[in-house]
Amino acid sequence: MTETAQPENEEKACTVCSIKSDERILLSGEDKGKQVWVCVRCLPILIHGGH
Ligand SMILES: [Zn+2]
Repeated sequence: MTETAQPENEEKACTVCSIKSDERILLSGEDKGKQVWVCVRCLPILIHGGH
Protein backbone atom coordinates (compact mmCIF):
# COMPACT_ATOMS: atom_id res chain seq x y z
CA MET A 1 0.00 0.00 0.00
CA THR A 2 1.25 3.40 -0.84
CA GLU A 3 0.95 6.05 1.75
CA THR A 4 -0.68 9.08 0.30
CA ALA A 5 1.18 12.07 1.54
CA GLN A 6 -1.13 14.70 2.82
CA PRO A 7 -0.75 17.90 0.86
CA GLU A 8 1.28 20.06 3.13
CA ASN A 9 -1.13 22.46 4.69
CA GLU A 10 0.60 25.73 4.12
CA GLU A 11 0.25 27.61 7.33
CA LYS A 12 -1.15 31.02 6.81
CA ALA A 13 0.63 33.83 8.54
CA CYS A 14 0.45 37.59 8.34
CA THR A 15 3.07 38.89 5.93
CA VAL A 16 3.68 41.87 8.19
CA CYS A 17 3.81 40.49 11.72
CA SER A 18 3.80 36.74 10.99
CA ILE A 19 0.91 36.07 13.33
CA LYS A 20 -1.03 32.92 12.63
CA SER A 21 -4.70 32.66 11.81
CA ASP A 22 -5.39 30.87 15.07
CA GLU A 23 -4.45 33.99 16.99
CA ARG A 24 -5.96 36.67 14.83
CA ILE A 25 -8.19 36.89 11.82
CA LEU A 26 -6.22 36.82 8.61
CA LEU A 27 -7.43 38.30 5.37
CA SER A 28 -6.17 37.18 2.02
CA GLY A 29 -4.97 39.66 -0.51
CA GLU A 30 -2.79 39.92 -3.54
CA ASP A 31 0.54 41.63 -3.82
CA LYS A 32 2.08 41.86 -7.26
CA GLY A 33 0.24 38.75 -8.34
CA LYS A 34 1.16 36.72 -5.26
CA GLN A 35 -1.32 35.74 -2.62
CA VAL A 36 -0.55 37.24 0.73
CA TRP A 37 -2.16 37.05 4.13
CA VAL A 38 -2.58 40.03 6.37
CA CYS A 39 -4.07 40.11 9.83
CA VAL A 40 -6.76 42.61 10.70
CA ARG A 41 -4.34 44.58 12.82
CA CYS A 42 -1.79 45.10 10.07
CA LEU A 43 -4.37 45.81 7.40
CA PRO A 44 -4.82 49.49 8.39
CA ILE A 45 -1.07 49.93 8.15
CA LEU A 46 -1.14 48.70 4.59
CA ILE A 47 -4.13 50.86 3.76
CA HIS A 48 -2.35 53.96 4.96
CA GLY A 49 0.85 52.92 3.23
CA GLY A 50 3.28 52.32 6.04
CA HIS A 51 6.36 53.06 3.95
ZN1 LIG B 1 -0.17 41.28 11.14
